[in-house]
Amino acid sequence: MKHKRQKNAKRLVKFYAHNFGITAPYNVLVDGTFAKQALINKINIQEQLPKYLEGEVKLHTTTCGLYECEQMGSLFYGPLKVLRQYKELKCSHQPMNPVDCLFKQLKKGRPNTAQALAGTGFKGRRMNFFIATHDPTLSRKARTLAGVPLLFIANNAICLEKPTDKSKARAKKLLNEKLLPSHEREKLKEGSADEEEPKKKKKKIKGPNPLSCKKKKKTPALHGVQHSEISDGAKKRARKRRRRGKDEADLPDEEKQRLMKLVLEEAWGGS
Ligand SMILES: [Zn+2]
Repeated sequence: MKHKRQKNAKRLVKFYAHNFGITAPYNVLVDGTFAKQALINKINIQEQLPKYLEGEVKLHTTTCGLYECEQMGSLFYGPLKVLRQYKELKCSHQPMNPVDCLFKQLKKGRPNTAQALAGTGFKGRRMNFFIATHDPTLSRKARTLAGVPLLFIANNAICLEKPTDKSKARAKKLLNEKLLPSHEREKLKEGSADEEEPKKKKKKIKGPNPLSCKKKKKTPALHGVQHSEISDGAKKRARKRRRRGKDEADLPDEEKQRLMKLVLEEAWGGS
């Protein structure tokens, strides 16, 4: 049983390492509910977790996580003592529900496409967190993010949940991208996390911009080739004007005067 559990963990850890660049030392975000469950099951997280994940582990919690335990008083005195031993990620926001606070941290720490492709994990302060919780709401929210390993306690032992369909789908996409020729991959690395964005970019580069600009300049000059209503209208107007000019020019002076009279009479007579 124990052997099987360990073997499973190894496979899952490999999955996250391979697909999301999450490697040791593993950063684990622990909340009060997980610490409490560990105490109930007499599990020493700091001792057990590195053995289970087969790698160095760094345990973290947040100001909001600690604050909630403090507020619960004697009920969460044990978990508070446990969490105080971990590295506190100082919250710059107003105290909030630890579920929202920890979820915020998870979102911040997710690898983007470029980092996952390069298998380098994170730069600077970004961390690829595991989440260790027994809160159903936080678990559910964590599952909505691809590439976030979820730890829980069952049968008196720490367990790593199987990757969600979302994580698997993302891993598959990343794998397909890895199989692309290197120049295509470079393009993706330059782009950001979302898969849709590079596509949009491609369209922009290939697309209408340069060509359409040229066309617009050329078409008015190329009269008569492929013409729209506007240029037809322009032609008609031009023809009319020309004809009128020609007619008037061809008439003898007497006739011109006669016509002028008629026009004037018509104009004055009407009023
Ligand atoms: Zn917080």
